[in-house]
Amino acid sequence: EGDRVTVLFPSLHTTPDKTALRFGEKSLTYRELAGVAGTLARRLSGLSRVAVWATSSMETSVAVVAALAAGVPAVPLNPKLGERELAHIVSDSEPALVLAEPGVALPEGLRDVPREDVTLTGTAAGLPPEPDGEAPALIVYTSGTTGPPKGVVLPRRAIATTLDALEDAWQWSADDVLVHALPLFHVHGLILGILGPLRRGGSVRHLGRFSTDGIATALAEGGTMMFGVPTMYHRIATEVGDNPRLAGALRGARLLVSGSAALPVHDHQRITAATGQQVVERYGMSETLMNTSVRADGERKPGTVGVPLRGVELRLVDEAGVPIETSDGETVGEIQVRGPNLFTEYLNRPDATAEAFSDGWFRTGDMATRDGDGYIRIVGRKATDIIKSGGYKIGAGEIENALLEHPAVSEVAVTGEPDDDLGERIVAWVVPSGEPPSEQQLADHVARLLTPHKRPRVVRFLSALPRNDMGKVMKRALNA
Ligand code: ATP
Ligand code: MG
Repeated sequence: EGDRVTVLFPSLHTTPDKTALRFGEKSLTYRELAGVAGTLARRLSGLSRVAVWATSSMETSVAVVAALAAGVPAVPLNPKLGERELAHIVSDSEPALVLAEPGVALPEGLRDVPREDVTLTGTAAGLPPEPDGEAPALIVYTSGTTGPPKGVVLPRRAIATTLDALEDAWQWSADDVLVHALPLFHVHGLILGILGPLRRGGSVRHLGRFSTDGIATALAEGGTMMFGVPTMYHRIATEVGDNPRLAGALRGARLLVSGSAALPVHDHQRITAATGQQVVERYGMSETLMNTSVRADGERKPGTVGVPLRGVELRLVDEAGVPIETSDGETVGEIQVRGPNLFTEYLNRPDATAEAFSDGWFRTGDMATRDGDGYIRIVGRKATDIIKSGGYKIGAGEIENALLEHPAVSEVAVTGEPDDDLGERIVAWVVPSGEPPSEQQLADHVARLLTPHKRPRVVRFLSALPRNDMGKVMKRALNA
């Protein structure tokens, strides 16, 4: 078992001639990857920490594999970060250098950090011996959905454990070719999307950027799996009914996986209707890597994120922190998790780290129910998605799912705002799909599908919802 953690990528040694990574015209076999990453790793050895300018590129993937091999913690940087966020991350993480794709300009905020270009030409024979499982491997900044991004220190042990639990849940093998269109500076795109296939000994085909055409082509050309965020599946759901090429390509895939935010049930159903595929949803976060997933060999229950992964202990607790023992699919509690998939600490934030744990359990801040089969249904985040209205506690997600079933609604976010009578009133922020519906129509629709007290009292129309680069709705920006 120890070996399985310390040798993160056995295939670098065991299947040297197989294609590991493809980005557009660039591709590397496992032998070539070991050569270029091994060469770079020797240059990084002994540094305290390195930043990676995480463009969606081969160079970013090589930089991360090299840093892992050198035992130097890597901090992936989102190239679209604003000046203030970049300044925060640079001063917080103090990288000794920044690894970048040759020819790519770096912003002013990195002028004091020495630059090292990542080239794809090294031929070192093999990688240096790997450090132990508890050593910090990656520092991933959270999405900043609820506050300023925090640096999550992830040891190799957490990465290896989560990827192996996904092997079990998804029957993920060396035969899988992952079609990938996510950015490479978060857990989803980097750890699952690049390190996952490398650990399995499979292949990645990265599209650079998402398009339904690109997905259809890559799946038709041998892709077996796709990882996506709900905004991608929303685009697919909207087009797939009239796009036989896309429908056919998706029908032939082994597994379609969604995560990073809730996949609307309506989108799930439209994809199933057109392709016969049921998207598998999983739930995770930067701090815990993956917690739950629908299993490839298990029942898919749309609107749920499946069951705890192997090795993950999960409990729901009430407001007093007392575990909820019932599994009635109705009682809502906060998800807390424990297990070898967890991070070590928030960088430079002992206060936030201590605050995040309760008796060794990590408090996710996500609220959920559990049914009799152990399936978890996320109702929303404690901080932004639980609306206290008229004496009820109402989850935003359920109302959002109901509104998305209305034909005139394309996208929606539900929030609460102060109300003299109700405590909070339910507000629906709606991107209409054509002619905007009336407020009354939407209220009646929700009252009919759910219960009257869950109907929106206010509807505000927008041309787009404020989203971050993972497509997550920034509810803070709506309420501001
Ligand atoms: P910050 O912590 O900075 O506010 P963030 O929580 O969005 O940002 P991440 O760690 O990238 O940063 O995201 C984890 C969160 O994403 C989870 O806590 C959960 O709220 C949400 N999430 C992930 N997967 C799912 C899913 N399948 N369904 C619903 N929510 C999900
Ligand atoms: Mg978070």
